Amino acid sequence: MTNKTLINRDLQTIWHPCTQMKDHESLPLIPIKRGDGVWLEDFQSRRYLDAISSWWVNIFGHCNPRINQRIKQQLDTLEHVILAGFSHEPAIELAERLVQITPEKLKRCFFADNGSSAVEVALKMSFHYWHNKGQKKKTRFVNLSNSYHGETLGALAAGDVALYKDTYAPLLMEMITVPSPDCYKRKEGVSCEQHSRIMFAHMREVLEQQHEEICAVIIEPLVQCAGNMRMYDPVYLTLLRAACDEFDVHLIVDEIAAGFGRTGTLFACEQAGISPDLMCLSKGLTGGYLPLSVTLSTDEIYQAFYDDYENLTAFLHSHSFTGNPLGCSAALATLDIFAEDRIIENNKILAQKMQTSTAILSDHPHVAEIRQTGMILAIEMVKNKNTKEAYPWQQRRGLKVYQHALDNQVLLRPLGNVIYFMPPYVITEDEIELMAKVAIEGIEIATGK
Ligand SMILES: *Cc1c(COP(=O)(O)O)cnc(C)c1O
Repeated sequence: MTNKTLINRDLQTIWHPCTQMKDHESLPLIPIKRGDGVWLEDFQSRRYLDAISSWWVNIFGHCNPRINQRIKQQLDTLEHVILAGFSHEPAIELAERLVQITPEKLKRCFFADNGSSAVEVALKMSFHYWHNKGQKKKTRFVNLSNSYHGETLGALAAGDVALYKDTYAPLLMEMITVPSPDCYKRKEGVSCEQHSRIMFAHMREVLEQQHEEICAVIIEPLVQCAGNMRMYDPVYLTLLRAACDEFDVHLIVDEIAAGFGRTGTLFACEQAGISPDLMCLSKGLTGGYLPLSVTLSTDEIYQAFYDDYENLTAFLHSHSFTGNPLGCSAALATLDIFAEDRIIENNKILAQKMQTSTAILSDHPHVAEIRQTGMILAIEMVKNKNTKEAYPWQQRRGLKVYQHALDNQVLLRPLGNVIYFMPPYVITEDEIELMAKVAIEGIEIATGK
């Protein structure tokens, strides 16, 4: 088998995600033969350091022996079973452990099989809670500008990235969108914390004026990942939690990308000391192995659905692969690794290394900002450093970095003009140096003319 034969076969039948397929007339598709730790290998024995954790899912490397072992064990016992009316040990143990490690008010786990579905569940649960409580006027949701919550219609509506959303606008429910606290946009001399506090005024105003019709605020904690890795201060979440309590509105925290150590704590919420009403998890949940997601809720929300069947208050929502035992087993192995190894502590060293190995770029004439939250580091390329004027998107400068990186053993996947690292936590300091060196060269080339 060679790269070439597989590429030909692939392009005959597969429609790839988030891709203009015509790009593959000039951009080579890369079939991967095997993975090992942070490394992927193609059919010509070329290697790629997976600096983006295969779309932010992989946290402990490809073919991690401990996760592999757990899945293999489960495979010979039970591959899948319906979770309505039936149950199984991996789901039970996983739910117990998630309730233990997540913020304290979260007591119930509703499983689904991907991040977007977990968001749909959270939105429906919040609306349905108020419905069951007789608050029929509560039908709307608040989000932040530049937010991302997935691609299914409800989740797409909940987000605000124009590139993914605008085409489908006629199909989508209308949100109340509040300007993001995005620190990149702060005025000179203003700290991120100050900026987050200032921007919170917009949120407060909306909640004050419209809380009677609002079910929930949905938010990505600390980092708007798909929205070009824009970051904000934890104080925003602390203020938001207090305001949601004050105005009787749910707080939905989407930790699908931020959860499982990515922002420097096991969950990003911890940095603000808050407990949401609903929390969505996926991606790193299974170590990036299998599609599984969970929406955690408070007991108060759960109780509003608990009644005699005839009252029709139940949450009649399901997905075929809800709580799949193989996925749950991968998740249990993932939680074991967090419990047994000093992941969060060790990530501090790796995060520091990511910072020092890219610091040289801070003086680069076409880098407006290097920002970092834990194990996410992003570099914003701009046309004009002083005014932060962006390069026209049509120039696709990020793509030049992508191509340079592939030729030099690194898989980066810039978001527009933002180059970022979001590596698996098993990366070494030497590998971080390689990743940074290649990114710096790529930025040099992409901003050359
Ligand atoms: C990836 C992502 C989702 C969607 O998850 P899928 O599994 O791709 O449907 C939702 N929210 C956030 C914050 C994400 O990063």
